[in-house]
Amino acid sequence: MLRLSGSEQAELHRMAFSVRNKSLSNRVYFRGLVEFSNICVNDCFYCGIRKSNGNVRRYEMSPEEILATADIVAGNGITSIVLQSGERRDRRFIDSLVKTLTIIKDRYPHMGITLSAGEQERSVFEEFFAAGAERYLLRVETSDEEHYGRLHPPDMSFRNRVRCLEYLRETGFQVGTGVMINSPYQTVENLARDIMFLKSFDIDMCGMGPFIPHGETPFARYEYDAEKSLNLGLNMISVLRLAMPDINIASTTALETLSSEGRELGLLAGANVVMPQFSPAVNRREYMLYDNKPAGETPPDELMDTLKRKINAIGMVPEMEDRGDSRHFITRKAMATADKNKI
Ligand code: SAH
Repeated sequence: MLRLSGSEQAELHRMAFSVRNKSLSNRVYFRGLVEFSNICVNDCFYCGIRKSNGNVRRYEMSPEEILATADIVAGNGITSIVLQSGERRDRRFIDSLVKTLTIIKDRYPHMGITLSAGEQERSVFEEFFAAGAERYLLRVETSDEEHYGRLHPPDMSFRNRVRCLEYLRETGFQVGTGVMINSPYQTVENLARDIMFLKSFDIDMCGMGPFIPHGETPFARYEYDAEKSLNLGLNMISVLRLAMPDINIASTTALETLSSEGRELGLLAGANVVMPQFSPAVNRREYMLYDNKPAGETPPDELMDTLKRKINAIGMVPEMEDRGDSRHFITRKAMATADKNKI
């Protein structure tokens, strides 16, 4: 299924679209994305903000700046926010993030907050959860340990990645993960196994998107085919939707980079979440994970109008009231409670 193209591919996407409509609905949930810092201790071979890229101006938004951005997100009627950054484990970073969560929760008690700040100690995940983050995104990038080793330096490990996902699950987070699609050394068989991994890990949410080279990384000259990446990216969404009908799946920015209609194509292929960018315009250019990542200066309200119109045009409905917790998570939790009561 991952290899399909042409009319068979269109059929696959239609099937996933209808499965999503049946198991969830035709509603699209919004997550205001705030990339609050590009400072990173890791040196992932594919990533533009890896620590050894000396050509990046590093920034870190203060809790107050992040809160002001949350005001803009909320002002646009969005009820969920994603705070993403490079990875750091120093105390100053953790304390600052806990403070950010606390002040956002204080002003917006009902806002869904997703964190995406990399691998942490179990106790740190617990601190974030206690401060009000209820969802966490940590992509496993690939489910193949050897492949993982070819994308990352030796001080990073696949096992620690998976251990972190387990900690997140045990802490009570809605757990989101995903992979990079069409990344160097990856085969279609790898991708098929990735789907099985996501299913067997019983994830609640998924963010995955095509790899796009960045000029200042070891993979700068890696040959890559944009059309193949786009097709694989869309087929991955569809196949995962068939495998996991009630999880949240994001139509990611990388799809949008490959095609001007990438975001809508992702929704048509079975995704149900979009993550419009709310990072302040001054920082957008500095959060270049890959070349040509959209960093326009169009004000968010204008972007939102266009986005909502495009969603309506493909027969879906922008949902602005319900904050869209993962249905899979809600069901999983209800079942766990029922089990406990039985005992
Ligand atoms: N530090 C956080 C956020 C990382 S950036 C964390 O570890 O979760 C978010 C995602 O961007 C990464 O997980 C990776 O999958 C993706 N990414 C990085 N470089 C990329 C590239 N060159 N092309 C496509 N996606 C990339």
